[in-house]
Amino acid sequence: MMYTLAVLLWSLLATTSAHQVHQHASTATLNHPESTILEALSTYNDPVQAMVALHPSSADMLAEPRLLEVMDGSEVRWMTEGDKLRLRREDIDFIDWTRRDLLVERGFQADPNMPKVSHQAQVRKVFPHLSTTNMFEFLETFTAYYNRLYTSKTGVESQRWLYDEILDIIRKAPSTCRLSVEQIPHLFPQNSIIARFSPSGPRNISQTVTIIGSHLDSVNQYFPLLNAPGADDDGSGTATILEAFRSLVQVGYSPVDGPVEFHWWAGEEAGLLGSMDVAEDYKARGLNVGAVLNVDETAFIKVNSTPAINLIEVGATEKLNKWVHDLAKEYVDIGVKYSGMVGRGLDHQAWTRHGYSAVSIVEGDQAEGGWLPFPHTGASFTARNSKS
Ligand SMILES: [Zn+2]
Repeated sequence: MMYTLAVLLWSLLATTSAHQVHQHASTATLNHPESTILEALSTYNDPVQAMVALHPSSADMLAEPRLLEVMDGSEVRWMTEGDKLRLRREDIDFIDWTRRDLLVERGFQADPNMPKVSHQAQVRKVFPHLSTTNMFEFLETFTAYYNRLYTSKTGVESQRWLYDEILDIIRKAPSTCRLSVEQIPHLFPQNSIIARFSPSGPRNISQTVTIIGSHLDSVNQYFPLLNAPGADDDGSGTATILEAFRSLVQVGYSPVDGPVEFHWWAGEEAGLLGSMDVAEDYKARGLNVGAVLNVDETAFIKVNSTPAINLIEVGATEKLNKWVHDLAKEYVDIGVKYSGMVGRGLDHQAWTRHGYSAVSIVEGDQAEGGWLPFPHTGASFTARNSKS
């Protein structure tokens, strides 16, 4: 079904090159002018009706059943693909469990790998290589795609561009780095990406894997065919971990005890689709994941609020949260806080549900209203706006 959706939406969006879309995003999109989309949206309150009015052939696909865990505390239940559009518009998160083993019992989790925080010299050696200029430049291009919807042409193009950026970093790597990168296909057009630092010595799949991730897709929550630059959600996390990756490459990093992986997951906004696929695969292969750090929304600081690293408590591994808290305290000057974020679905939950230890960090301070005020919209920050 997801494949059907993918093919359909992809074909809908495949009419304009990314370059053209960037230049004319306000006037023409997809195979409908934006004005036609807006007209349908003004005629129909229901996003599903609007989509069917624009694309009658999408009706069957939107009626297909989806097993959704809605993050409003209700039961996991069968809904439809169209219901996802409705939930999105209400700003209600969900995890899509269709075709998966339902792992809703938040039971056993392997103990996280939490080595002693004792690598000050090595870590501080990396800091001078980190560049916010690189991050802004990255976001200029990444947010210029009309959207990064997991099924859209620009969603695929933006993901391929990110992959090329990673390849470019790897191409310049010193020989001390043992690096690999792969695109992970899903049942929809956008791929996830995994870049890996492997330790020296023979390959040993029982070694503990450490994962740092973010999601590469974006969505316009009002209606998915509209513009979604997603500079903060999650262009910022994508840029943040890419810069960490780049800097580690520049210092010739080689992990000692097990691989360190950087993941960019596809389709997060459609119910954690990419991270769920990858976590499911790691579990099926019996891989030993020591810890997952998900980085989602890290750029926005509300005027007069205090910058802070927020550790999300919902669905996260408590012990690992505490360790990351201590880690951040050791190496950065920004405050570290805990936030509930009840009702939010973030990629760390894909990993904790599969028995792995995982946490998420986000920007701002919930108590101070420090979150981005308008995520998931066309009005979301562009990189240029974020600078000022
Ligand atoms: Zn996000």
